[in-house]
Amino acid sequence: MKIGEYLKQGNFSVSFEFFPPKTPEGERQLFETIEELKTLNPTFVSVTYGAGGSTRDRTRNIVKRIHEETSLTVMAHLTCIAHTREELYEILSDYKNIGIENILALRGDVPHDRPDFRPPEGACRYAVDLVRLIREKFGNYFSVGVASYPEGHPESPNMEWEIRYFGEKVRAGADFSITQMFFENHYYYEFIDMCQKEGINIPIIPGIMPITNFKQIKKFASMCGATIPQSLIEKMEPVEDRPEEIAKIGVEFAIAQCEDLLRNGVPGLHFYTLNRSRATLEIYRSVKGLIPIRDLYA
Ligand code: FAD
Repeated sequence: MKIGEYLKQGNFSVSFEFFPPKTPEGERQLFETIEELKTLNPTFVSVTYGAGGSTRDRTRNIVKRIHEETSLTVMAHLTCIAHTREELYEILSDYKNIGIENILALRGDVPHDRPDFRPPEGACRYAVDLVRLIREKFGNYFSVGVASYPEGHPESPNMEWEIRYFGEKVRAGADFSITQMFFENHYYYEFIDMCQKEGINIPIIPGIMPITNFKQIKKFASMCGATIPQSLIEKMEPVEDRPEEIAKIGVEFAIAQCEDLLRNGVPGLHFYTLNRSRATLEIYRSVKGLIPIRDLYA
């Protein structure tokens, strides 16, 4: 199933994101998580890609396993910064050969542990170049998603810049977008308004990060420029060493966040699962209005 077409028909999407584990034990646990989340009948699941190309084989193998061993639609993330165009073409051709129809086209970040890193000669500099490459070489075979940043990408000097280059990815042929995590919905609503004013009308699915480890999320959030509301910090900081309490507050927060998003007519919800099912299952089952919407499109 092509995600872009599914969304274009006005269908509501629920999706789960995983990362490729490094060990056989991690892989076993991931497939256990997938088994549990499969019961929620997601529209698609996605598998991340290491920006330096470090997970090339692992991402491909997990994508292939999910595609072959389950009935789930799977989207492969692909970052372009560290690959030549030929390598990207090879990776995409391989996905096409095994029947993968959905790609999240990303730039990725320069790997922190490689200060001498230089992109290969003629590499795709930005995600838009990867979107163009996909459309040029594969036409409409792939449905292409791209990343968006309701609070602005850390490298974007302002939101006008953000929208300008996001719009470029859409004009290059992106069908839909998934946002960076955010915790204050007004950033998302303002971003959607700005996009609409610029004639950018693709479905933009909010990315939801259930907080189960406050210290880790503080780090992620500061890296990607997501604001954690002061009221949430005040609740979580005193109990940050008590995982059960953090997870309880995090799940409650995400439920309220998703309910507000649903009331405001979002096209779907994308959960960053960190390869665990518990928080996502709890949120999914508790969000008022989610199961009826899903039944409508099941
Ligand atoms: P781009 O769209 O290329 O934008 C990057 C920056 O460059 C922005 O500031 C943009 O405004 C600016 N820009 C774009 N085009 C131009 C231009 N022509 N001239 C000047 N400036 C320009 N990372 C991974 O490594 N692996 C993953 O699997 C992964 N999955 C992700 C999934 C989602 C849903 C999201 C939101 C992010 C994901 N990331 C992933 C992180 C992403 O790779 C980083 O945020 C990265 O820094 C930017 O990638 P991008 O595709 O948004 O880049």
